[in-house]
Amino acid sequence: MLKNDMLDQWDRDYFFHPSTHLAQFARGEAPNRIVTGGKGCHIEDRDGNRLLDAFAGLYCVNVGYGRPEIAEAIAEQARELSYYHAYVGHGTEASITLAKMILERAPDGMSKVYFGLGGSDANETNVKLVWYYNNILGRPEKKKIISRWRGYHGSGLMTGSLTGLELFHRKFDLPLSQVIHTEAPYYYRRPDLNMSEEAFTAWCAAELEQLIEREGPDTIAAFIGEPVLGTGGIVPPPAGYWEAIQPILKKHDILLIADEVVTGFGRLGSMTGSDHYGLTPDIMTIAKGLTSAYAPLSGSIVGDRVWQVLEQGTDELGPIGHGWTYSAHPIGAAAGIANLQLIDELGLVENAGTTGAHFRKAMAEAIGAHAHVGDIRGEGMMCAVEFVKDRDTRRFFDASEKVGARVTEALLAEGVIGRSMPQGDILGFAPPLCLTPAEAEEIAGKTAKAVAKVL
Ligand code: PLP
Repeated sequence: MLKNDMLDQWDRDYFFHPSTHLAQFARGEAPNRIVTGGKGCHIEDRDGNRLLDAFAGLYCVNVGYGRPEIAEAIAEQARELSYYHAYVGHGTEASITLAKMILERAPDGMSKVYFGLGGSDANETNVKLVWYYNNILGRPEKKKIISRWRGYHGSGLMTGSLTGLELFHRKFDLPLSQVIHTEAPYYYRRPDLNMSEEAFTAWCAAELEQLIEREGPDTIAAFIGEPVLGTGGIVPPPAGYWEAIQPILKKHDILLIADEVVTGFGRLGSMTGSDHYGLTPDIMTIAKGLTSAYAPLSGSIVGDRVWQVLEQGTDELGPIGHGWTYSAHPIGAAAGIANLQLIDELGLVENAGTTGAHFRKAMAEAIGAHAHVGDIRGEGMMCAVEFVKDRDTRRFFDASEKVGARVTEALLAEGVIGRSMPQGDILGFAPPLCLTPAEAEEIAGKTAKAVAKVL
């Protein structure tokens, strides 16, 4: 094994880390962590630290680390057939079987699964399918995609545009012109503190309808949304939100893309976020929890209505001109099958609901009364703590105080990984779905210590 100081130097000299302050990192002013192992909800690093990972990597290691069942399924697939493509009708037993398993877990009305590699490329696929759909229907003007401020849908050209977080646009010439943003359903940050939750839902719906009318419904193809806003701050929707949004989309013949990259396969305590909130999407995006990140794999689940038109398109034009070399990679598919079986066997969807609720309760008991804790919210195995300068006015801390980042750092010093969310002083948690009540209490207790140190 390489000496630690040599590996550290190579890391700083050769490796381009995503979402990192490149200059500080290269100069050795920002820390690195070289991760060597993981078991259950814990990871280990080269410095001998054992950390409770309360963000499941990037909310993706849903079954927890070190599951031999998935490792064995991957090894067996690699030995038998490491790769074959899926173009012009080719496939493998693993990819076909996984497509069937996904559709058995998807809401009614979904028809086929297109496999990609990650959430970003799946959403790029989805936008292309929506454009193709409207071109086949003879509506070439109906192309714009509505997304929400604070939504996260990836960091490609189109998906970085759909993402409604300034950090992902800055100096990249994004968003592209075909993307428009509407208000985030973020009740804690409502425009008027006296607004009831119902009135806020109606306000979000009215904002959406006005945007559609301003732009012209004939120019808008689709609306994309996460059932619960994730990277934008872990924000469950206000009561009645999806019930209010869906009829507006129907009225204007706008397709609904449910981005379930985080919420798919159990995170909310239901198999999908669409089940949880009664969504009937035309297309669903899945990734992360599909394989619990044991191998890269994503999917676009296409609903009947879109599928019929795609078929019509190929009858008119010939084969659809879309595909990746690694679409439906058999090793990813084998990991997906073993992962979905484990989720069922271990009852992880149910545990996400019950232990997730216990976790938020423990967090509220530990820090809910603190003068700078403005909000504790979440759903299933997702929880956010929002820090404010003043609880009554909900005034923000000055950004230069970096309160969210400092609490996250103090929590790390206690041995727990949370995530400082990119916009606002928000500490996010999305642990593996196998979290135990004792681990939930440990995270809450250590968060209280971290908050006491910083605030
Ligand atoms: N969509 C959502 C809701 C996400 O949270 C993410 C990633 O966090 C993505 C899409 C992008 O996925 P990936 O990073 O695999 O490209």
